[in-house]
Amino acid sequence: MIDFGVLLDVQDHDTRAEQVRHRRASLPQRNELARIGAELATLETAEAEVSARRHELARQEKRFEDEAALVEAKAASENRRLYSGEITNPKELQAIEVEIASLKRRQTELEDEAILLMEQIEPVDGELAALDDRMAALRTAQTAATEELAAAEAEADAELVTVLDERAALATSLDADLLATYERVQAQLRGVAVSRLVGNTCDGCHLALSAVELDRVKREPPGVLVYHEECGRILVR
Ligand SMILES: [Zn+2]
Repeated sequence: MIDFGVLLDVQDHDTRAEQVRHRRASLPQRNELARIGAELATLETAEAEVSARRHELARQEKRFEDEAALVEAKAASENRRLYSGEITNPKELQAIEVEIASLKRRQTELEDEAILLMEQIEPVDGELAALDDRMAALRTAQTAATEELAAAEAEADAELVTVLDERAALATSLDADLLATYERVQAQLRGVAVSRLVGNTCDGCHLALSAVELDRVKREPPGVLVYHEECGRILVR
């Protein structure tokens, strides 16, 4: 006698195992992590670009500051010469005074340029801070989603172990040939291998059997396996 009840129970466990595998593969945290990863990559590119802009502005600012310092040193040196007492020629002294005044003006111009650049750097620093804040929030969300995913995966794994253990126990009580046939049909159909005959309809493919086929199926003794010709499933009468 073929125990179709156990066979259907085995199939039910296979279906549940497949559902658990599918659920594990499509956990929402996977999409969430992909979304966070993509946004982080975009922000990292933006941060690199803004950092490069800031670096260039700071380089220019330093150039003006260095040049201002050189001009200031030159003015101080001229000032020392002016009061050293070594130079007594009034025309030469006057020329030095003119030179010092010119150097002071140049120093002020250079310092003003440096201030302008500092003012340009300020909003760039604001941009960088905003990017850093957003990335820190994303990394926190990433950590949380990673932990949630691991927990959901562990839950699915535990459920799968239970379902497969139960399935293995059921399979041992099934005739080995019948189990092999079931698994072969299951592999061919990539899914449900056993279906019930409900009235004249196969509940696996939902097609009605022809009168001739229905007659053939009903004539077979209960111990003989019959298949639905249309879909290839084992029919439970
Ligand atoms: Zn069918």
